[in-house]
Amino acid sequence: AKKESGSSYSFFTQHMEMLSISKLEMENHLRQSLDRKELEIVYQPQVDCMKGAITGVEALLRWNHTTKGYISPSDFIPVAEEIGLIDAIGEWVLRGACRQMNAWHRQTDEPLMISVNISVKQLHDERFVDKVITILEETGLEARYLEMEITENVAMQDKQMGVLNRLRQLGISISVDDFGTHYSSLSYLKRFPVTKIKLDQSFVRGVQTDDKDRAMIKAIISVANAFQLQMIAEGVETEEQADFLVANGCHHIQGYYFYKPMKPAQLQAILNKELHD
Ligand code: C2E
Ligand code: CA
Ligand code: CA
Ligand code: CA
Repeated sequence: AKKESGSSYSFFTQHMEMLSISKLEMENHLRQSLDRKELEIVYQPQVDCMKGAITGVEALLRWNHTTKGYISPSDFIPVAEEIGLIDAIGEWVLRGACRQMNAWHRQTDEPLMISVNISVKQLHDERFVDKVITILEETGLEARYLEMEITENVAMQDKQMGVLNRLRQLGISISVDDFGTHYSSLSYLKRFPVTKIKLDQSFVRGVQTDDKDRAMIKAIISVANAFQLQMIAEGVETEEQADFLVANGCHHIQGYYFYKPMKPAQLQAILNKELHD
C-alpha cells in the first residue's frame, strides 16, 4: 500500500513537471477532451503466427491536446481514474471500438476480435454491465467478438469478480493484461473468470539477453496451458523474440515487429490487402 501512494505522488510531481502542466490543468483539460474531440482510438493488430494472419486488434487511446501536443495514456489514464472521469472515457472508447469493429465485420467473412482496455475502476460502477449491453446493442457487435483487457489488480474484490462473471456470461472474453508483473498472479487465475493471459512486454524484452526472462516466459506459457487459457505476447519487436515465443508455444503475437498501433483507415487498407492476397 505504501508503494501505491508513493508512486502516485511521484507521478504527479515528475510527470506533470515534464509535461509542464499542473495536475489541476490536466484535470480541467481532460474533462474537456471528450467535448473537444481531442481523444482518438488507434488499433494495433494481433497476429496468429500459425495462421499467418491478423486475428484481432487492440484499441488504444490517444489524446492529442490542442496546445500541449500528444499526451500518453500512461500519463492521463491514472488522472482520469483519480478524478472519476474513467467511466465516461472508458465508455467512449468501448463504444467507438465496438462500432469500428462492427463496420469491419460487415466487410469480411473472417471477423476479427476487438480487445478493449478496461480499468478496474470501471468495474466498480454498478451500471457497467448494463452500459456494455447497451453499447453492444447500439453498435451491433456480437459479444463473442469483444475482449476486455484487465490488468490484474489488488483492488479487485468479490464484487468486481461478480461483474467479470456476468460479462463472461454475455459471451465477452476476459484477458489478464501485463500478466506476471504483479505478485498475486497465480492465485488470481483460480478466482478470475479469464479466457486469456497477456504476457507483459517486460519479459519479452529480455528474450535475447536474460535467462530469467526466458525462464519466466516458459513458466507463464505452461501456466496458461495448465489452466487451458489462451495466450498472447505483447511488445514483440524483433524476429528473435517472435521465434522464441512461437518455438515455446505462444503463437499469438502483438508488437512493433508486425504492426504498430494505427488509425482505422490504415488498418482498413491492410485488411483489404490481406483479403485479396
Ligand atoms: P497496455 O494495455 O499494456 O498496452 C500496450 C502498450 O505497449 C501500448 O502503449 C502500445 O502502444 C505499446 N506497444 C505495442 N507494441 C509495442 C512494441 O512492440 N514495443 C513497445 N515498446 N511498445 C509497444 P500505449 O498505447 O501508450 O498505452 C499505454 C497504456 O495505457 C496501455 O498499456 C494501457 O494500460 C493504457 N491504455 C491505453 N488505452 C486505454 C484505454 O482505452 N483504457 C484504459 N483503461 N487504459 C488504456
Ligand atoms: Ca492492453
Ligand atoms: Ca499490457
Ligand atoms: Ca502495460
